[in-house]
Amino acid sequence: KLHNTILELKGNIRVFCRVRPHLSDDSSSNHGKVFSYPTLTECLGRNIDMTQNGQKHSFIFDKVFMPNASQEEVFIEISQLVQSALDGYKVCIFAYGQTGSGKTYTMMGKPGQPDEKGLIPRSLEQIFQTTQALRRQGWRYEMQVSMLEIYKETIRDLLSINRDSSRTENGVVGKQYMIKHDTNGNTQVSDLTIVDVRSSREVSFLLEQASHSRSVGKTQMNEQSSRSHFVFTMRITGVNESTEQQVQGVLNLIDLAGSERLSKSGSTGDRLKETQAINKSLSSLADVIFALAKKEDHVPFRNSKLTYLLQPCLGGDSKTLMFVNLSPESSSAGESLCSLRFAARVN
Ligand code: ADP
Ligand code: MG
Repeated sequence: KLHNTILELKGNIRVFCRVRPHLSDDSSSNHGKVFSYPTLTECLGRNIDMTQNGQKHSFIFDKVFMPNASQEEVFIEISQLVQSALDGYKVCIFAYGQTGSGKTYTMMGKPGQPDEKGLIPRSLEQIFQTTQALRRQGWRYEMQVSMLEIYKETIRDLLSINRDSSRTENGVVGKQYMIKHDTNGNTQVSDLTIVDVRSSREVSFLLEQASHSRSVGKTQMNEQSSRSHFVFTMRITGVNESTEQQVQGVLNLIDLAGSERLSKSGSTGDRLKETQAINKSLSSLADVIFALAKKEDHVPFRNSKLTYLLQPCLGGDSKTLMFVNLSPESSSAGESLCSLRFAARVN
């Protein structure tokens, strides 16, 4: 690897926790304070306590972002990780949490609010600015992106031009989307659209296309985007024209499906199957990250599409960051505790 990033890694897996602010329209469920922050600094510390039914639970993460943390403050903490994808590392950044906890806000930001753009657009800007600056040292970079969705263990191409014609549950008719890993640790998904990109504007355009694709699927199949995993992948290849050095990095940014559990009042049929599929793939992800963190010999990558897809980018000398997004309302305390426990296991 070329440049040594300053990141001091305790293993290559880190977990950041982020609590979103109260939203103005949810005051009804806004009784009592759920979270407190024992090591209070301006907007970020490492400790978080939560109180549920009079009982206190304490957790420590690599970082805890309080509700007042801005998108910029969050990005500052991950920009080195993004940089390491340019240095030839494979990087995965996940957002985990119940629906409404701020995963998409953290990843994409708020539409139409440039100050509130999330870490995907900020990462892209940083990548293109840095590669531009490195041209002076002889570096030439090529970037390729793909965007897909995994819904009930099925891959859907979000950049397929034919997406509107004869769509089925499995995506476009005749497409297989088989995942294959070659011996160099590169992943190929058959039939998946891969686009060469030269600027962050080009990628923004593709992100819009992907978001449109997702909403088309939503109405046609009556499901919500919160029920599927969104996987953004950028492959970065750099060649130095004078020294002939080469680097190949990958940046995966993943907005996971909502982690909420089945309500006890009993889902049935499709909804039940859907929730089971989500729970299975989220627990498979936890199993994989847990096995990697514990340096176990057997890592169960093949138990879900998501972990199998990302296999070469998890473990080895790759770098993984998981955001655990939390809703501050007391009505969400049960789900929040589950999320914190999930993350504490991964941490
Ligand atoms: P999720 O993707 O986990 O379902 P969202 O990202 O859609 O949740 O967030 C739910 C709502 O809360 C959205 O309206 C979003 O704009 C808002 N929101 C989430 N996090 C923040 C934050 N840190 N600051 C301000 N608004 C936020
Ligand atoms: Mg979302």
